Amino acid sequence: MLVTNRRAFMKAAIAGPVVAAFKNPHTALAADPGMTKASLGYYQFALGEFHVTAVCDGVFSLPTDSIATNVEADEKEAYFDAHYIAPDEFKLQLNTLVVDTGQKRILVDTGIGPGKDWAPRAGRLVKSLEGAGIEASSIDTVVLTHCHPDHVGGLEADPAKQFPNANIVLSETELDLWNGPDAASKLPEWATPNLPVVQKVFSTLGDRVQPIKGGADVMTGITVLDTAGHTQGHISLLVASGREQLLITGDPIANIHIAFDKPEWQIMWDHDREKGAKTRRALLERAASDRLLVCGYHYPFPGVGHVVKEEKGFRWLPTDWV
Ligand SMILES: [Zn+2]
Repeated sequence: MLVTNRRAFMKAAIAGPVVAAFKNPHTALAADPGMTKASLGYYQFALGEFHVTAVCDGVFSLPTDSIATNVEADEKEAYFDAHYIAPDEFKLQLNTLVVDTGQKRILVDTGIGPGKDWAPRAGRLVKSLEGAGIEASSIDTVVLTHCHPDHVGGLEADPAKQFPNANIVLSETELDLWNGPDAASKLPEWATPNLPVVQKVFSTLGDRVQPIKGGADVMTGITVLDTAGHTQGHISLLVASGREQLLITGDPIANIHIAFDKPEWQIMWDHDREKGAKTRRALLERAASDRLLVCGYHYPFPGVGHVVKEEKGFRWLPTDWV
């Protein structure tokens, strides 16, 4: 059943091998020869004086039904069928991003991390970074858009050593959400199993964790946008160098079809589903009207492109891979 899968997904997200209940459709393919080598990847481009690298952590799946919770079954099933989306499995890629300002290297989100049986095709961030010639030790700052396991998981195995010279920046609200004394009461039930992992990351990293407010700059040219809804403290980033601007969305716009076509379709994984839908539409409007280059965390790799406004929704225009 779907509910069982949802709960098992979150449990597996925390306990990994301890919880065997979640049977990802890809698990049977775990011995698939060469898949890790075949799926490493990075994509680089210039943004003004900055250099940006989209780095592939891999891909994982969620139950399709969790992506449209406020829609009649007939309507969403017809949509899924028309868009070649499997009824039981919704794929999400994991596009972390390195922004090199010439002075500092910033990594945005850390993927799922290796060795998760619920996501056997994920956890390739460090190898993909190496492929791009980027040592993990050269990262100065890790920005977390939020603390779901597919964004913070890359810090889980060895938080202090994974990016040994980096400070960890996230919103003040997100830090309080997951690290405050009443954290469990503020999270949806499905998210609470992730608390011990996130809290261990923060306790291990100590004063390397640096909360920031919406509207503040991570550093010159990289501004924090408050995009709450997916989580209470979710942030996106607006990166600007010279005349060029890049919007790093995180998860308010979590896929290239439903989120664009039907921004009001609610998502189970948004802590506040109504606010999540409003934030999604507002961010899409801004990206389209300001003609921003956009990086989407869960879009087909490399997840770089533009947003076009249409009559009711929006359309994703991926960039050329050059
Ligand atoms: Zn995500």
